[in-house]
This record gives sequence, structure tokens and C-alpha cells, in this order.
Amino acid sequence: MRIVLLGAPGSGKGTQSQRLVQRLGIPQISTGDLLRSAVARGTALGLKARDAMAAGKLVDDGIVLGMIRERLAEPDVARGFILDGFPRNIVQAEALDAMLKQIGKPLGAVVLMEVPNAELVRRIAGRRSCQTCGSVYNIYSMPVGAPLVCTRCADSPPLYQRPDDNEATVVERLKVYEAQTRPLAGYYGKQGLLQTIDATGDVDAITELLIGVLSSPVAARARAVAKAPAGKPAPGAKAKPKVKAKAKIARKAAKKAGKAGHAVRHRSVAKKKVAKKKSAGKKAARKK
Ligand code: AMP
Repeated sequence: MRIVLLGAPGSGKGTQSQRLVQRLGIPQISTGDLLRSAVARGTALGLKARDAMAAGKLVDDGIVLGMIRERLAEPDVARGFILDGFPRNIVQAEALDAMLKQIGKPLGAVVLMEVPNAELVRRIAGRRSCQTCGSVYNIYSMPVGAPLVCTRCADSPPLYQRPDDNEATVVERLKVYEAQTRPLAGYYGKQGLLQTIDATGDVDAITELLIGVLSSPVAARARAVAKAPAGKPAPGAKAKPKVKAKAKIARKAAKKAGKAGHAVRHRSVAKKKVAKKKSAGKKAARKK
């Protein structure tokens, strides 16, 4: 399965991706995590990305696409992957399509996770992460008084708040999302890949919702189309009519249109007759 999770910052893409990794046994590819790791290691790429990230802007497409190209070449993605935070604009989406087409492995599903803005801001303010394993927590859903440490790592490292999870940057990130990333819903909608879920409420329930849409007929059809050998229609997909068949369809349509025309004419003749009768009746009444 090759999946894209779309959604605003704070919509839960990271949290749900981590859960899908467990359920589906395919890796999560988060461009945000890859970039943060590059920044933390002080690599040349990290230095280039740092300022844009701190300002809540998108990092240069060239940098992100280079990173994705490298990641998609690793062996663990052979069975599929969950893209989290990528693509973020149309240029990236087109480049991804081209990359996947080249290796003959197109996307199977795109899920848009919708959350109202007020809830997004609250979630981002409460978000804390583990720098060791990348697990994401939220102080609002943790037990009151629980220590802010990672319970998944053996040495319980302290959780940290991402530097770009501050109020000023969040406003910019939401603006960037609306202007550049949301249009991807239309892009994938046209490809017949998009499914939208309400990503508010219980985290477990959202995971089940996601699993449900990923096994829905839309996702299954997209997978079948991806698997179909060139030239052959996928199971369940409509075959293109041959030229002769097309001519037959056109003849049928013309015949139907002709009949419809007759029907309209019949109706208008009938209407005229009724009108004639009515006026004759009125004349007779006047004479009386
Ligand atoms: P995220 O962890 O997905 O919220 O990403 C954090 C930040 O990394 C974003 O605000 C961007 O500055 C940068 N970033 C992550 N993914 C991308 C991407 N696909 N394209 C450009 N910038 C990105």
C-alpha cells in the first residue's frame, strides 16, 4: 500500500501514521522528521532548511524532493509506505507522481484528515515529542500529573516541544497549508484517490476510521488499477469501448435523442389540444 496522509499541521498525521505502521507493517516517511533530524545533525541540508522551518514556511522543493527520492530508493519501502507531510504543494505532488510512475508503483490512497482550526491550534500547543524515538504525545490527552517523559523508550527521556510549535509560527503554517497544501485535495480528487475523514475525537476511533477507508472500494480500486498490467483494464475498471462499439453507442444515443424529441413534440401537441378545448368551452359559456 502506498498512502499519502494529507492534513493541516496538528491534524494528527504523525500520530496516525505511527499507528498505521503497527497495523500495516509499512514504514512512515515524514519529511518533517527527516528535516528535523538534518537540522539537529547540522548537515548542509539541515542548515539550508532551518530558517524556513523556524518561520513556518515550506522548505525549498529541491531539498525535499532530493530527500524523498533517496528515501524511496531504500529497500524497506518495497511493500509500501505512508507519506506524512509530503507532498505539501502541487509541484511536489507532480514530482512524486513522476517518481512513482518511473518505478511502476503509483499511489493507492490519499486520505485528507479534516480538523477545525481552533482544535488544530490547541493540539499543536499541547504537542510534545520524544527526540529519541519520535513518538508524539499531547499534554491534553495524558493523565493529569503524568511525568513528561517517553514511556516507549527504556530510559524514559524527557519529552520536548518543537520550536516551530509556537503561536506565531502556527498561524503562518496554517496559512501556508490553506494556500499551498489544501489544493492537493482537488489534485488527488481528480485522480479518484482522495478520501476525507473527520479527524476530531478519540484517537483510537480515528485509527479505525482510517483503516476502514483504506480498505474501502475506492482504495481497493486504486490498488487494482495500480496493479493492472499495461493495456489491460484492472478488475472492476470499465474497459474503453472499441471503435465499433463506440459507433454503436453513438447510434443508440442518437436514436434515444430522436425518441425524446418525439416525446417532447407529442407533449406539445397534447398541450395545444387541451388549450383549444378550454378556449372553446369558454366561448360556449360566454354565448350562453
Ligand atoms: P511537519 O513536521 O510535517 O509539521 O513539518 C515541519 C516543517 O518542516 C514544516 O513547517 C516545513 O517548514 C518543513 N517541511 C516538512 N515537510 C515539508 C515538505 N514536504 N515541503 C516543504 N517543507 C516541509
